[in-house]
Amino acid sequence: MAKAYDVIVIGSGPNGLAIAAYLSKAGQKVLLLEKRFEAGGGLCTEQVTLPDFYHNTHAVYMMMVDYAPVYSDFQFEERYGVRHILPELQVAMPLVDGRALCVYHDVERTCASIARFSAKDAASYRDMQRHFDELMKHILGPQTYVPMEAAPLMAGAPSSPSLAARSPNTRRRRRRRSSASASRTSTCGR
Ligand SMILES: Cc1cc2nc3c(=O)[nH]c(=O)nc-3n(C[C@H](O)[C@H](O)[C@H](O)COP(=O)(O)OP(=O)(O)OC[C@H]3O[C@@H](n4cnc5c(N)ncnc54)[C@H](O)[C@@H]3O)c2cc1C
Repeated sequence: MAKAYDVIVIGSGPNGLAIAAYLSKAGQKVLLLEKRFEAGGGLCTEQVTLPDFYHNTHAVYMMMVDYAPVYSDFQFEERYGVRHILPELQVAMPLVDGRALCVYHDVERTCASIARFSAKDAASYRDMQRHFDELMKHILGPQTYVPMEAAPLMAGAPSSPSLAARSPNTRRRRRRRSSASASRTSTCGR
């Protein structure tokens, strides 16, 4: 007998998994279909070298993975024991003369390593880190996971005028735009 589902999600990559999990949590009956024998898409880990050594075959960086809301919403750490191991030494460039330029998790340790080559570069690296830290805190972080908007407005130019007109986001944007243009007009008029 055919089973009934509220939603069918095709593909178990990170996006498919996350959306299926949220829909299930919201009480929907979800069927998640995957064409491969492994779930996870670009996120999946496989034994591609030695037995019992699992590798993520796509990811080269995991910098913001635990920043994703899905991580805390589903309590990956508490409930499933997910743990990220961050090596203190991130990158190293050994040179033929025996020296090595090392980039650590710790900024000051990195600056000390760079200073062996150039004190000026070490100071620049410290400044750059401070700058990136601010960008991350105030722009990149908050902008990466903004609350969802209605789908037709994602491109900023809705294809269906009737849908756009119905959307509360469009109405809000229009109000914002018209008040901004009103304030521009009043500034010009001064
Ligand atoms: C080479 C490479 C390196 C990357 N490196 C990083 C990185 O270092 N860090 C990072 O954060 N991101 C990285 N990404 C990006 C990341 O992999 C993607 O953003 C992410 O996997 C997208 O998730 P998704 O769920 O949309 O799609 P995918 O992960 O691609 O998953 C799609 C899934 O759908 C399945 N599927 C497709 N068609 C069907 C079908 N007809 N029926 C059933 N199942 C189907 C596929 O088998 C797959 O499992 C990398 C991507 C690539 C290609």
